[in-house]
Amino acid sequence: MGKCKHITRLLSDALDRSLTTGEWVAIRLHLPTCSGCRNYRKQIRLLRDAAHTMSGISTPDKASSDD
Ligand SMILES: [Zn+2]
Repeated sequence: MGKCKHITRLLSDALDRSLTTGEWVAIRLHLPTCSGCRNYRKQIRLLRDAAHTMSGISTPDKASSDD
C-alpha cells in the first residue's frame, strides 16, 4: 500500500508544522497496524531529541531506560 509513504511524510512534517486533525487521525489509525511506521516515528523522535541536545537544550536522559 502507498499508505506508509503518506504516513511517514506526515510524521516528518509534524516536526516542522502543525498537522491538521484529519492528518493526526490518519496517523493514529495507521500506526497500530504498522510496525514499520511505528519504528519510523521512534527514529524521528530520537533524531529530534538529538537535535534538541545539540542546540543546547538539556533534557532528562531517560531514553536508555525505555524499552
Ligand atoms: Zn505504515
